Amino acid sequence: MGKGYKGKPCVYCLEAESADGDHVLSRQFVLPEHRGNLPKVPACKRCNNEKSKLEHYLTAVMPFGGRHGEAGRNLTEQVPGRLVKNERLHRELADGAERYLVSENGGQWQHGMTVPLDGRALEALFEYMTRGLAFLHWGLALGPEFAVRAAFLGEAARRPFEDMMAKNAEKVGGSLGGGAFEYEGAMAGDGSGLTVWRMSLYGAVVAGDGDAAGREERCSVAHCLTAPLAWPVTKKLLGMLGG
Ligand SMILES: [Zn+2]
Repeated sequence: MGKGYKGKPCVYCLEAESADGDHVLSRQFVLPEHRGNLPKVPACKRCNNEKSKLEHYLTAVMPFGGRHGEAGRNLTEQVPGRLVKNERLHRELADGAERYLVSENGGQWQHGMTVPLDGRALEALFEYMTRGLAFLHWGLALGPEFAVRAAFLGEAARRPFEDMMAKNAEKVGGSLGGGAFEYEGAMAGDGSGLTVWRMSLYGAVVAGDGDAAGREERCSVAHCLTAPLAWPVTKKLLGMLGG
């Protein structure tokens, strides 16, 4: 595609005409020196606004949970300014923050912090990004006749999606914004629009609610699926992704 991002079908909804190009990974997640060459797709005003709302919230919250170097500097250099402008969110994070000590793989004990996260907001952002990446890599136009659903999956639910990723024919992958966002995707070779993705932002760990046995699963990778809504199996797959 050329430079023009106006007057094309919006990649996110396929219903409205694009008003401008949208960065699939928002520049706000990325340090200034890594903002060059972030991919853009045509987007309509409404989708751009809806995605921006998610980004506005997540760019303030996600760096707290990030393990990638990009997140650490983002946290010290960019987040304070954002929180000053958003007092309500600042209070919510301060009230919900918990500190802990963690040792990974027998390594040195390190301080960590968890903050309350609206996980659904991150999944919704990943769904927008999946549409954008499917368009960029394969020219896929995933309109209303497709299900696009991202979720942080526990051990049991994850396996079928990993199997699908291994089986699917055309694979892509990438790292955007100096490694702030990493993804892999696989598309079925039958032209159906069936794709499966793994993606993570800052390598940040998202904790689940835990089960009755007191076990809690944590994930840094979300899985995303795109599939025709008309397929009977799509409903079953969506059920595994939480509906
Ligand atoms: Zn749109």
